[in-house]
Amino acid sequence: SALRDYSKSLVLDRTANSILSGGTHRENATFVTLSRNQDLWGLVGSIREVEDRFNHKFNYDWVFLNDAEFSEEFKTVTSSFVSGNTYYGRIPKAQWSIPDYVDEDKAIQCRKKMEQDGIIYGGSESYRHMCRYESGFFWRHPLLDNYKYYWRVEPHVKLMCNIPEDPFKFMRENNKRYGFTISLYEYQATIMTLWDTVKGFMKEYPQYLNDNNALKFISDDGGENYNLCHFWSNFEIGDLDFWRGEAYQTFFDYLDRAGGFFYERWGDAPVHSIAAAILLDKEQIHWFEDIGYWHVPFMNCPVNKETRNKLQCTCPKDESLSDDQRHNFAFHGYSCTGRWLKFNNIPFPVGYDKDN
Ligand code: GDP
Ligand code: MN
Repeated sequence: SALRDYSKSLVLDRTANSILSGGTHRENATFVTLSRNQDLWGLVGSIREVEDRFNHKFNYDWVFLNDAEFSEEFKTVTSSFVSGNTYYGRIPKAQWSIPDYVDEDKAIQCRKKMEQDGIIYGGSESYRHMCRYESGFFWRHPLLDNYKYYWRVEPHVKLMCNIPEDPFKFMRENNKRYGFTISLYEYQATIMTLWDTVKGFMKEYPQYLNDNNALKFISDDGGENYNLCHFWSNFEIGDLDFWRGEAYQTFFDYLDRAGGFFYERWGDAPVHSIAAAILLDKEQIHWFEDIGYWHVPFMNCPVNKETRNKLQCTCPKDESLSDDQRHNFAFHGYSCTGRWLKFNNIPFPVGYDKDN
């Protein structure tokens, strides 16, 4: 409403790294969500969580992107929940289409086959556009041009704990470029030729590989094979300049030309993760241990009980829940976060192996 916009403009200076009226420092950052109109009410729950646990104190902006036109209802409802400015962008058709160097008939055959094989989203064309867009295009959207950091939020996610410190500030002050909460193993069947393609890229463009990279986190045999570990990209806090850089753009184009977004079902999670692992300094990747986060069916929560109490975490300890849904998925056998800590020589949190 006009009154609300007016009151917001009184309190907040929208320039980068601005100082809020309460003296709070704000980074040059925004939330970003790719969404369909029908995702609205699942998304409202996510926004409410983000605002209650964090953003009501910081009022960061929120950019919404969609391959179709957002409805008036979507815009009105979401903007009424976001404490910062909201922006709504339409994705150009060219970025949500099968490119001309991909054989469309072959793509259709592949979808059929993967659907018959029971692979999750195996038969879906739109899911493939989504994965390709998140991999290669969201960071090129003009609405993101003036931001440095982003935090990706999806519908139906939960924040289990308060977030008293600004993760964007943490990213900048510690020179981090990619932050995650949950890591796990990818379904091999969705990425049959991804690693061969990555190896082709590494051979052709060795100049882009970081000297202090995290290749050992994603490969157990010096790069011959991919161990399927990846950061779960439905949550990401990242540096847009990483994706905008020449190294990643070359990486994405190389992958895109190989057609695996359509002939297989390459996810943006392994694509982002592999890129981060080979193109960044491993010190630039960060596990946000204390950000309690849930996306069906996994949850990250602080191991330390005092921390959980201090941050008012709602991580359930319910006996009826499966292991991976209780308290913490980080040290579950299907998680790669233990590997991540070992790879970085970071000690495991005290009590990680107990149900505390
Ligand atoms: P999952 O987490 O892998 O099961 O996939 P989701 O269904 O959560 O989709 C991932 C993200 O992309 C969510 O933010 C969705 O709202 C969004 N999304 C998925 N498909 C589409 C689509 O066809 N169009 C648009 N605009 N957004 C989509
Ligand atoms: Mn999701």
